[in-house]
Amino acid sequence: MGDRGVLLVTGGSRGIGAAVCRLGARDGYDVVVNYAARKDAAEALVAEIEAGGGRAVAVRGDVGVEADILSLFEAADRFGRLAVLVNNAGIVDLPQALADMSAARLERMFRVNTIGSMLCAREAVKRMSTRRGGAGGAIVNLSSAATKLGAAGQYVDYAASKGAIDTFTIGLAKELATEGIRVTAVRPGIIETEIHASGGLPDRVRDITPSLPMQRPGTAEEVARAVLWLASEAASYSTGAILDVSGARAILP
Ligand code: NAP
Repeated sequence: MGDRGVLLVTGGSRGIGAAVCRLGARDGYDVVVNYAARKDAAEALVAEIEAGGGRAVAVRGDVGVEADILSLFEAADRFGRLAVLVNNAGIVDLPQALADMSAARLERMFRVNTIGSMLCAREAVKRMSTRRGGAGGAIVNLSSAATKLGAAGQYVDYAASKGAIDTFTIGLAKELATEGIRVTAVRPGIIETEIHASGGLPDRVRDITPSLPMQRPGTAEEVARAVLWLASEAASYSTGAILDVSGARAILP
């Protein structure tokens, strides 16, 4: 059993979330691997963590559905004391100009990426806030370099849904600053995961690589290391901080 409490990772079954789960288990957290559809991937990850001597459980739940979020946190309560929430679950959509976007698309984008993260944070705060009898903790949100680039002609809805996450991170950090909970975010650049294919652009990473400052995409593990540092005691004075992990992409003066 880990000695650092429970690390709950939304969208922990694949990509960046899975890397956070793997490294978090190695760091001594008990890991709740949330997933939406890919039970196979989540269960394989749990088996991998257990084989390495860690403790993990896979819990289905769509962060776009409040009832699912409530049962996800109840499952986490049964697993142990919540110490860290990583709001990682996120979606993109097919490249489109705003003029062609449906209201349903916009609502889904914000329901999953923004409201889902806010509702998960709400449930975490209820459990972790020292003002409410909790032992404190950390919340790390996954933002995106798109918040600074805007993603014109591709998915301005996604960029805006993540821009709201940046603002939310700052506000919630201040709101909880005396309640033992630090709130931070990571802004990844182009990271090699399946998200690009799910947005209809399977070759996006390859196509964009020549324009990246470091001439390569980042890995999920490189983002995960930043997430776990922000969640750890080593980052005890970092709250409201938004860390770019983008290989200098979208870095502004
Ligand atoms: P990914 O490879 O597509 O994985 C997405 C994960 O989120 C999967 O585990 C998926 O679960 C889960 N998920 C999707 N919708 C969900 C929902 N409604 N409820 C619960 N879980 C859900 O994505 P990724 O590239 O690792 O991205 C992770 C985060 O980083 C996202 O917030 C993304 O916006 C952000 N980000 C990524 C990049 C990049 O270049 N990759 C850049 C900037 C920011 P299933 O396995 O069940 O489908």
